[in-house]
Amino acid sequence: MSNLDKGQIQVQTENIFPIIKKFLYTDQEIFLREIVSNAIDATTKLKKLASNGTYNEELGDLSVIVKLDPKKKTLTVSDRGIGMTKDEVIKYITEIAFSGASDFISKFKNKSEKEASSIIGHFGMGFYSTFMVSDKVEIETKTYKRGGQTKAVHWECNGDIDYKIGEGTREDRGTDIILHISDDASEYLQEYKILELLKKYCRFLPIPIIFGTETVTEEIPGETDDKGNPKTKEVTKPRIINDVNPLWKQKPADLKQEDYNKFYHELYPLIYDDPLFNVHLNVDYPFNLTGILYFPKIKRNVEVQKERIQLYSNQVFVTDNVEGIVPEFLTLLHGVLDSPDIPLNVSRSSLQSDTNVKKISSHILKKVSDKLSEIFKDNREEFEKKWDDIKIFIEYGIISEPDFYDRAIKFALFKNVDGKYFTFDEYKDKIKALQTDKDKNTVIIYTNSPEEQYSFIQSAKEAGYDIVVLNEIIDSYYINALEQKNDKIKFVRVDSDVVSKLIDKGETSPSKLNDDETKKVKELFEGLLDKATYTVETEALSETDSPVMITKNEFMRRMKDMSRLGGGYGYMDAFPDSYILKVNVNHPLISRIVENPEAEESKRTAEQLIDLAKLQQNILKGEKLDEFIKRSIELFNIK
Ligand code: ADP
Repeated sequence: MSNLDKGQIQVQTENIFPIIKKFLYTDQEIFLREIVSNAIDATTKLKKLASNGTYNEELGDLSVIVKLDPKKKTLTVSDRGIGMTKDEVIKYITEIAFSGASDFISKFKNKSEKEASSIIGHFGMGFYSTFMVSDKVEIETKTYKRGGQTKAVHWECNGDIDYKIGEGTREDRGTDIILHISDDASEYLQEYKILELLKKYCRFLPIPIIFGTETVTEEIPGETDDKGNPKTKEVTKPRIINDVNPLWKQKPADLKQEDYNKFYHELYPLIYDDPLFNVHLNVDYPFNLTGILYFPKIKRNVEVQKERIQLYSNQVFVTDNVEGIVPEFLTLLHGVLDSPDIPLNVSRSSLQSDTNVKKISSHILKKVSDKLSEIFKDNREEFEKKWDDIKIFIEYGIISEPDFYDRAIKFALFKNVDGKYFTFDEYKDKIKALQTDKDKNTVIIYTNSPEEQYSFIQSAKEAGYDIVVLNEIIDSYYINALEQKNDKIKFVRVDSDVVSKLIDKGETSPSKLNDDETKKVKELFEGLLDKATYTVETEALSETDSPVMITKNEFMRRMKDMSRLGGGYGYMDAFPDSYILKVNVNHPLISRIVENPEAEESKRTAEQLIDLAKLQQNILKGEKLDEFIKRSIELFNIK
């Protein structure tokens, strides 16, 4: 290489390379993605030229080859694509490619190191990112033009602004990028490391990528052993890294459910369950987007794993952090999205305000709700079976995305305590007759624990009411969202009041006690309870209602639930648990107490009734529970 010309990269900043190295340090590994995708681009361009007749020579094997030479400390990426002429190297490598790098420097020069490195990962550095890991980079290239008559070109640069360019030695069309890996980046001379990076970034690129070899067991045609089984042999073959035709690029009509499930398990080898269902995205106007989204089966009480959707740009892996690109609640989904229209080489904050990204996001939302709606309409039984598993996604969507609410409310289901499913409209129709209060609100009665609230549920059922199960953490938000959207809908938890008051129909029963008697009853119960926790209320209910009942104000309880979940009501935590003890003055037992409120037996009856009410609410614990058991046994003995 004696006759190399010298040139200078045109920049304002003299010391651009040290800056590139320093700022890009955190995302160093993207260099491999950049040069392999350049090789793929050059190959794809050649294939296009061949298919439109511009290039008429033999294409031959177009695989991209990645090679390590630990002795020479080089990593080489070779392609048989379009190659470059000398002028093109000067133009594309030293002028255009470099402008990306100097752009970066000028933008981030005045930012702190922290600010710069937080956005750097998504800034396109292309070819020059190789200098993060190399002391020297060489290019050997020969253009496809003029049937191989044009000479090969050699270019090299030591990571400063001077480069050398001259005649090269490459004999056939294409390009080698040779990286002389620097000592502080020696991990990139390890085979496992390069394999890992290729698997991460290049797994679905459209041209075969070969890295080293692998040994596979193959059957020998026509040869069998004693038992008639085919004989096998070990064969060493070039190791192909990628799947050149990933599932999301194929036509949905050609694919079966098994194909989708198989691909899911390839993407997420650590997930055992099949996905619940999938949505295949395929749009080319007004933007280009393909992909497959999966609804995963989420185990209850297991932290939902985010950052699972993988984002690709023309089959090149970019990130698995899709926040801001898909609506927040869809980040719970799994799968792949591929769009060349998402501006991947900019910072995340500008990504979120990008209009293309917004359009993509609302398109995904539409597609997902269309698919759900389709399953709901075509196969309601199947939809109901999966409801308990997909409920969290849908409710989360309804809460967080107004557009999704409008679509999803048509197929979002309520499950009642008898295990039957209803849409919101169906349910409103079902309960309208009995569960409308004096202000014409339709009242939905729910339980968050059919087991713990069993006796409340039974009384509500006896009154002819229906009870839905809303027992997920997200449900308290869901209930609020539905109430906010629907004027005349109210939710009450089944244990929030005595059954005849769950739905306020404006009816009152006359009291059997006079004011004085009522006051005495109230005082008796107050004397037996801790005032800070319990408020005693007397109420004239029917004789068949319980004599004493403990309830929790629906509003207070909800606020507390939400503050526990960190919903911005943190101050509610400061409030102790508070309960209302309701005494039904029309109950025969209360009438008996009132005859002689001072008597020991009246006090014991009142204590027993309070404890029973606490038991019903699962709040009778420790010493009080022990006292209750002893008192109950004594009561038997007296008889
Ligand atoms: P980008 O790929 O974003 O254009 P790069 O800095 O990675 O930016 O590359 C600059 C240019 O150099 C490419 O656009 C291409 O024209 C040329 N180039 C890079 N690698 C190759 C290659 N393997 N074969 C042919 N041309 C290449």
